[in-house]
Amino acid sequence: MKPVFERVALIGIGLIGSSLAHVIRKKKLAAEITGYARSEATRAKAVEIGLVDRVFPSAAEAVAGADLVILCSPVGTYGALAKEIASALKPGAILTDVGSVKGAVVRDVLPHVPAGVHFIPGHPIAGTEQSGPEAGFAELFINRWCIVTPLADSDPTAVERLTEFWRGCGSNVETMTPEHHDLVLAITSHLPHLIAYNIVSTAADLEEVTSSEVIKYSAGGFRDFTRIAASDPTMWRDVFLNNKDAVLEMLGRFSEDLSVLQRAIRWGDGETLFNLFSRSRQIRRGIIAAGQDTAAPDFGRSAAKLQ
Ligand code: NAP
Repeated sequence: MKPVFERVALIGIGLIGSSLAHVIRKKKLAAEITGYARSEATRAKAVEIGLVDRVFPSAAEAVAGADLVILCSPVGTYGALAKEIASALKPGAILTDVGSVKGAVVRDVLPHVPAGVHFIPGHPIAGTEQSGPEAGFAELFINRWCIVTPLADSDPTAVERLTEFWRGCGSNVETMTPEHHDLVLAITSHLPHLIAYNIVSTAADLEEVTSSEVIKYSAGGFRDFTRIAASDPTMWRDVFLNNKDAVLEMLGRFSEDLSVLQRAIRWGDGETLFNLFSRSRQIRRGIIAAGQDTAAPDFGRSAAKLQ
């Protein structure tokens, strides 16, 4: 099969960039992969594990001649990177990204995109709490959604090529506006991360319960929050700085609903608690039925071999 693209340039080679490199190689989605990484250590590692054919210390050099350029660094870096690569982009190239917010990416990148280059933002809803060039794996995107957010004047052929690329990575592709993306992700991803960061920080501040007790008895639910709260601080700082309105809207709703639970506990209103917990259980079952998680007890951890 002919590769979807001749040359793909990955700007940033962390979890997502390295996972893309693996799947591009495995599924032969491009004939050549070039890469840019900020640090010498990441550049050396990317070459050592064969993620890229050529790596550059400047993003402009990495994108020269590429027909697909994917921004894979934290969202807060996109504006400066777009400015730097603008004049080196090949006419007819597709410029996309994997950032967890979309409205702010359009705001920061679009002003730098030269005429003749197709800028089509995207976001694979796939990740782990690991970071760096060694964290990636080819299967990351399989059966996960990738949201593509074309702009009003995006070229349909370019959108189709990008869609084909993500399907080649194993993703299911959905298109929506950047604004709608930010609202949906605020509740499904950004708020859960904020809650996880907050609950872990609250536990860390407790004085009457020692930190060794928090760790020792963490299986009671807390452990799953700690996994989410171990996510990359730079990435998540940039997410909250760049999806402010939608996150504040969802946080407002969350606080109101939390007050309802608080009140139900105070007044011994078991019916309210039971009804709400039953509804939540249905949502979990829906996620499993949609193939977005496994029904294995304990998130599959119990399948791990006992020592
Ligand atoms: P990561 O593993 O931490 O890798 C980030 C990469 O960006 C590294 O190559 C890093 O370079 C580079 N970088 C960091 N700061 C930079 C700067 N100031 N200038 C230039 N390059 C810089 O991150 P990731 O998890 O792959 O996330 C990358 C993007 O994917 C983010 O925009 C995030 O929103 C999005 N995303 C993440 C997930 C997830 O679950 N992790 C899921 C979907 C989308 P060095 O290694 O040289 O420091």
